[in-house]
Amino acid sequence: MSVRVVARIRPLLQSENKKDAIVEAIGTDEASSARPSIVKIPNPKNLSEDFTFQFNGVYDEQAMTPTVKHLFLGFDVTIFAYGSTGTGKTHTMRGGKSLADRGMIPRLLSSIYRRSRKMEKDSGGDTKVDISMSYYEIYNDRVYDLFESPEKRTATGLPLRESGGGKTVVVGLSEMPCGSLKEFELLYDKANANRSTSATKLNAHSSRSHAILCVKLTVTTPTEVRVSTASAIDLAGSEDNRRTGNDKERMVESASINKSLFVLAQCVEAISKKQQRIPYRESKMTRILSLGQNNGFTIMILNLAPVKSYHLDTLSSLNFANRTKKIEVREIENEPIFKGPPRPPPGTTGPNIQRQPLR
Ligand code: ADP
Ligand code: MG
Repeated sequence: MSVRVVARIRPLLQSENKKDAIVEAIGTDEASSARPSIVKIPNPKNLSEDFTFQFNGVYDEQAMTPTVKHLFLGFDVTIFAYGSTGTGKTHTMRGGKSLADRGMIPRLLSSIYRRSRKMEKDSGGDTKVDISMSYYEIYNDRVYDLFESPEKRTATGLPLRESGGGKTVVVGLSEMPCGSLKEFELLYDKANANRSTSATKLNAHSSRSHAILCVKLTVTTPTEVRVSTASAIDLAGSEDNRRTGNDKERMVESASINKSLFVLAQCVEAISKKQQRIPYRESKMTRILSLGQNNGFTIMILNLAPVKSYHLDTLSSLNFANRTKKIEVREIENEPIFKGPPRPPPGTTGPNIQRQPLR
């Protein structure tokens, strides 16, 4: 199983002109009514020639609905949005104001709660599903809990630690139980108000940090406790900072943002070339994302703006996505923790431990 890459081309903004639109979604077969899967963009060096990139799907305004099936089967799921500032990452993850415009995160949570309630009901009260959330940002390679107000931040931020199973965890992060969708939304909105944002030339509310939401699902049955996590990551803008014309402070941020995205690109490069050393440890974001290392399902959403002014950044994002889609991910279920008998003796594998990886 490789990383699933889907592209999302945002619509033209009011300030943008239709004649400047250069990015197009096309199907593999022009006549087919299936969802387009190819992004077409002119070669900036020769506009009469086009480049095409194939992904697992190309979406435009239609909403994308995440699947939670794997999460309930005990797999971790990671969804991350990649793209230049102004291409719609936050809009895709968090969504707009209207119901039709709901983002990936609210829709993910609403299907998690729906499925949990159904699972509890179907078990006749034997199964309990608990949901909790953590939400943090990585800003200048420092980790900050978004449930802490910005004034309380320490200069160094929170440390990372490798936990069992090759996962990287943030030490000292708040974990907020949320018993309902309403409770989740209140906490999520409150934490979002703590995100570091500042105006840049490209986008008035551009986000200069990576925002990482982790939703932990704990399924407790009479015999086992199974934990899995869904992570939704809104990455900082991947644009070339030489084009944003920022002041010095912004340039320091940009350099650092670009450093972690640069390390991510190097990791992707190293993995795709099957190199021994993958430079994950060179940035906190790549340690946490652990692309190709984590034991679950990874979906990358490549956000694209349709217009000419993004031409070079769009092309560089498309090239990055093209390498990312080739990464193989190991799908390993999180092992359940057994409660009392029937517990298999150590060294043996009980019927619940070794399950076939999903295909
Ligand atoms: P990013 O987080 O990548 O910097 P934003 O999510 O802030 O980008 O989007 C930039 C602008 O484009 C915003 O004004 C946003 O409302 C608009 N936009 C992005 N995606 C869509 C979409 N799918 N439909 C409508 N408007 C969108
Ligand atoms: Mg944003």
